[in-house]
Amino acid sequence: MTPTPDPTRQHFASDNYAGMCPNAARWFQEATLSGHEPAYGDDGWTQRVSDQLRELFQTDCDIYFVFNGTAANSLALASLCQSYHSVICTSVAHIETDECGGPEFFSNGSKLLVAESDSAAARLGKLTPDAVEALVTKRSDVHYPKPKVISLTQATELGTVYSVEEVRAIAAIAKRRHLKVHMDGARFANAVATLGCHPSDITWRAGVDVLCFGGTKNGLPVGEAVVFFDRALSEDFAYRVKQAGQLASKMRFISAPWLGLLENDTWLHNARHANAMAQRLYAALRPVAGIELLHAPQANAVFAKLPRAAITALHARGWRFYEFIAGGGCRFMCAWDTTPESVDAFAADIAAACAAAGVTGTAR
Ligand SMILES: *Cc1c(COP(=O)(O)O)cnc(C)c1O
Repeated sequence: MTPTPDPTRQHFASDNYAGMCPNAARWFQEATLSGHEPAYGDDGWTQRVSDQLRELFQTDCDIYFVFNGTAANSLALASLCQSYHSVICTSVAHIETDECGGPEFFSNGSKLLVAESDSAAARLGKLTPDAVEALVTKRSDVHYPKPKVISLTQATELGTVYSVEEVRAIAAIAKRRHLKVHMDGARFANAVATLGCHPSDITWRAGVDVLCFGGTKNGLPVGEAVVFFDRALSEDFAYRVKQAGQLASKMRFISAPWLGLLENDTWLHNARHANAMAQRLYAALRPVAGIELLHAPQANAVFAKLPRAAITALHARGWRFYEFIAGGGCRFMCAWDTTPESVDAFAADIAAACAAAGVTGTAR
C-alpha cells in the first residue's frame, strides 16, 4: 500500500529533496506561455539569463546550461584536461566519490589525484596549498599523470566554506604550477551567503577558471550553469555538451527558472535561509547528550555521530537522512524551504532517540 504523501513532511537527506522555489516556478510558467521559441539555447530566455549571469559576475564569461552537476563537473574537467592529465581534489570530493567515474570517462581517462586526508583541513573537506604542492611535486616523469587541474568544492562536501584567502592561496599555486582551477559550486550560493562577499571575489578575481554553478539544490527544478571565466577554455564546449546528451532541446525551460533565482537575489535568500536552518539545528543539538557534533556548520549541513539505536529509531519514525556521507557521521542537510518547525521537530526526535538509546545502553 502506498502511504499518503504528506506535503508538510520535510527531510534532511539532501537539498535535492526540496522542490522548485516559487520564483523559479513563476518564470518556468512564464516560459510555458511564450509560445514558439528557437530551440537548443538560441531562445531569448537563455540569452537573458546568460547576460544576467555575466552581470552578476561582473565579467564577460561564457555560460552553458546542463541538466545536472555530474555533467557540469565532468564536462568542465574534460575541457581542461587531455587524457594523460590529472585533477587534484580531496578524498571526499563529489567528483571522486559520487560521479561514477564521469570526469574520467568524459576526459577519456584523466586521473583524479586525491590529496592526503588526515590533516585538519582535510577533515573539514578542504584542499590546502601544501596538499596541492605535495601532489604536484611528487613526480615529474612520464609514468605519472601530469597534474593539470585543481578542483575545489565550494561549499565543501562537509558543509564548510573556503575563505577568499584560501581560494586565492590555492589559485596562486595553480598559477605557479600552470594548473587550471575548477570550482564545483553545487552549493556555491550557500558559500557566498556565508562569506558575504561578492560572487566574483571567490571565483575569477581569486583565480578560478571555471565554475559549475548549482541551481538545482538552490531551488530550480533542474539545471546547472557552467561558467567559463577563462573563455579560451570553453572552445568546443558546446560539442561536448551535445555529445554527452546534455544539450536541452527546449533549453528555455532550464534557463527561464534561473531568472527567478537571480531576480531580487532569490538565490542568496534561498541559500541564507538553508544556512540559517542548519545553524538552528546545530544549536538545538548542542546540548543533546549522546550525540557528537563533528564540526560547526558553515553552509547548510550539520554532521553528527549518533548511537546506532538512535539512527534506527529516527528512521523508524520516518526521518530520512544519510549516514557516512563524506567521512563518517550522519549528514543533516537543510534546503531553501526547510521550515523552523521541521528543524525543531527533527531536533526533538533526535534528542528523544539519543536519550532512549542511552537508557538501553546501546550507545557507541
Ligand atoms: C549534488 C552535488 C553535485 C551534483 O550532483 P548531481 O546529482 O549530478 O546533480 C555536485 N557536487 C556536489 C558537491 C554536490 O553535492
